[in-house]
Amino acid sequence: MTRLGFAVNLDACCDHRDCMTACMRKNDAFPGAHFIETFTAMDASGDIEEPGTYFIPIMCQHCGNPSCVPACPHSVLRKRSDGLVVMDSTDPCVQCAETPCLDACPYDAIEFDRKTHRAGKCDGCADLVDAGGVPECVPNCFLGAIAFGDMEDEASIVSQVVEQYGPAAFRLKPETGNDPSVRYLLTRRPWKDMEGLYSPAWEDPEGKR
Ligand code: SF4
Repeated sequence: MTRLGFAVNLDACCDHRDCMTACMRKNDAFPGAHFIETFTAMDASGDIEEPGTYFIPIMCQHCGNPSCVPACPHSVLRKRSDGLVVMDSTDPCVQCAETPCLDACPYDAIEFDRKTHRAGKCDGCADLVDAGGVPECVPNCFLGAIAFGDMEDEASIVSQVVEQYGPAAFRLKPETGNDPSVRYLLTRRPWKDMEGLYSPAWEDPEGKR
């Protein structure tokens, strides 16, 4: 069975944000939306200069057990047979008084446009994948830090780099049971999961990202 996913090399990521720019350009998302966002992982001191600091791009984790899918009362979210989690149409979002999909996602991967009252997120560039391509962030990282492919195929680039990194290939919040399809590769710093993340876009005075 196919399981498409990402491997992100945090040893290489330098917070250049080409992935974010390419994603915004391709998806033409609503203002302020970041379907992939590079965070700074730092210790409790908040000192960006401390030696453990690294950068971590976070997108939808295309979970094996996506908590967002059953949370949506209008069946907007769907997991495809290749593993990508997509939103077919956001028209029903306008009926939602609350935003249960945002609340259900432990990775804050779903964005919400207050103006149009619609949700949005990384869909793995499913349209490009269906045409034989890869997500837009992959070729646009000039350091080649993002790999994409079938995690169930031992010959895929994703499987190969994950195998190569072994125990230094991490998942975000494994305790949630969401079974994410993104692996973060990190050897030069201690892994901090989602502790101490910072991004200027993270702050949200209205409480919804
Ligand atoms: Fe759903 Fe969040 Fe998992 Fe993406 S990361 S599949 S939005 S629960």
